[in-house]
Amino acid sequence: MARTSGKHDITIIGGGLGGMTAAIGLAQQGFKVAVIDRAPKGDLTAAAYDGRASALAFATCRMLDALGIWQYMEPYAQPILEIRVTDGPSLMHLHFDNESLGEGPLGHMVENRHTRLALFKRLEDVDGITLYAPDTVTEIVRTPEMTNVTLASGTEITSPLLLGMDGRASMVRAHAGIGVDHFSYKQHGIVCSIEHEFSHCGIAHERFLASGPFAILPLTGNRSSLVWTEKEHLVPTIMKLSDRAFEAEVKRRVGDFLGEVKVIGGRWSYPLTLQYANRYTDTRMALLGDAAHGIHPIAGQGLNLGLRDVAAMVEVLTDAARAGLDIGAPDVLDRYAQWRHTDNTTLYAVTDILNRLFSNDIGPMRLARDIGLAVVNEIPPLKNFFMAHARGTVGELPKLLQGQMPGA
Ligand SMILES: Cc1cc2nc3c(=O)[nH]c(=O)nc-3n(C[C@H](O)[C@H](O)[C@H](O)COP(=O)(O)OP(=O)(O)OC[C@H]3O[C@@H](n4cnc5c(N)ncnc54)[C@H](O)[C@@H]3O)c2cc1C
Repeated sequence: MARTSGKHDITIIGGGLGGMTAAIGLAQQGFKVAVIDRAPKGDLTAAAYDGRASALAFATCRMLDALGIWQYMEPYAQPILEIRVTDGPSLMHLHFDNESLGEGPLGHMVENRHTRLALFKRLEDVDGITLYAPDTVTEIVRTPEMTNVTLASGTEITSPLLLGMDGRASMVRAHAGIGVDHFSYKQHGIVCSIEHEFSHCGIAHERFLASGPFAILPLTGNRSSLVWTEKEHLVPTIMKLSDRAFEAEVKRRVGDFLGEVKVIGGRWSYPLTLQYANRYTDTRMALLGDAAHGIHPIAGQGLNLGLRDVAAMVEVLTDAARAGLDIGAPDVLDRYAQWRHTDNTTLYAVTDILNRLFSNDIGPMRLARDIGLAVVNEIPPLKNFFMAHARGTVGELPKLLQGQMPGA
C-alpha cells in the first residue's frame, strides 16, 4: 500500500543545481516543497560525479547570495577579472575586463561539486523542503485540479504544481507530450583541471581552435578548469590515452604562459547538443533549466539561464500566492513562460551561431570572425553590451537577480 507524504505546494522532479536552488528559493517564500532525485546524495556530491566547474555570472552570484547559498560557496569561488578571446594563432582578439565597468568581477568560477555541497548545507538551514533521493517516479497524474506523483518507494506526493527540472532527457517533458527541437554538434566537451606554476591572475581564456572552443578557466589557487571541445569521433581515443599522453595533449593546447602544467583529478566528457522544448508549460506543470533548454557551453551560460528561470518562477509564484491566486493556474504559468522566452531564445541562438562560426578552419570564415573580434574590441558600447550579457544584468531582471527577495 502506498505511503502518503502529505500535501506539498510544489513538487520538483530533479534535484540538480537548478532544482535544489529552486527548492531553497521557494521554501524561503513559505512554500512546502518536495524534491525528487534518482541519484543518492552521496553520489551527487562525490568528486567523480561531475568534474565541471561553472562560470557563474555576476547577477547569478548575487541571487545565490540573497538565498543564503553563496556563504557556503564563497571560499571556493574564484573571481573572473578578465576574459580574453582569441582565434587560434591570429593576433586579433577580444578583451573584457572588470575595471572598465568598475562594478566588481564579471562573475566567479566555482566547481559544481562545491556548489552542490553548498546547496545541501543550505537545505539544512531552510524549513519546508522534503528531499526524496534516491527515488524514482513510477507515475505522474495531472488533472486540472491537482498533480499526484508516485515514487518507487511507495510515497505519493500531491501538490497543485509540478516543476520539471530533470535535465536534458526530461521525463516530465516527455510525460507532458512536449516535443523538443534537438541538434547534435557532434562534439564533446572534455573537462579536466590543471595545476600550474604561475598565477592565472583571474583571467578566463577562450581560444578558438579548429575542433572547437578551448577554455582555460581560473579556479582558486594556481588551478584552472579546462573545457576542451573536440570532434565526437576523436573523443573515445582521447579519453583512453594514458595519463602521460593526455597531459602532453593538454600542455600542447594550453601553451607555456602558465609555466609548468600538471593535470589533476580525473577527466570527463560530455556530448554537446542544442535543444529547446516546444513550450515550457502544460496542465499544472512547468519546465525549467536544461529540461526546457540545453545550449552549447561556449559562453558558460547554461546554468546561468536555468537559474534565471528559477528566479523568475520564484517571483511569479510568490506574487500569485500573495494575491490569493492558484499557483498552478495557466495564466500564472504563462507569466513565467513569457518572462523567460526572450532571454532563453537569444542565448540559444547566440551560442549556436558562435559555435558554428568558430568551430571550423575555413579561410574566409576565419577572416570574417577575426575582423568581428577586432571590431567589438574597439567599439566600447558594443563591448559593454557583451559584457553586460556575460554579467547577466540585461533585460527585465527578477528581484533575486538584483540581490533582493521577491515580495520584500
Ligand atoms: C562541459 C560543460 C561545461 C559547462 N559550463 C558551464 C558554465 O561554465 N556556466 C554555466 O552557466 N553552465 C555551464 N554548463 C551548463 C550546465 O552544466 C547545465 O546547464 C546545468 O547543469 C543544468 O542544470 P539542471 O539542474 O537544469 O539540470 P541537470 O544538471 O541535468 O540536473 C538534473 C537532475 O535531475 C535528476 N534526474 C534526471 N532524471 C530524473 C528522473 N527521471 N527522476 C528523478 N531525478 C531525475 C538528475 O539526477 C539530476 O540531478 C556546462 C555544461 C557542460 C556540458
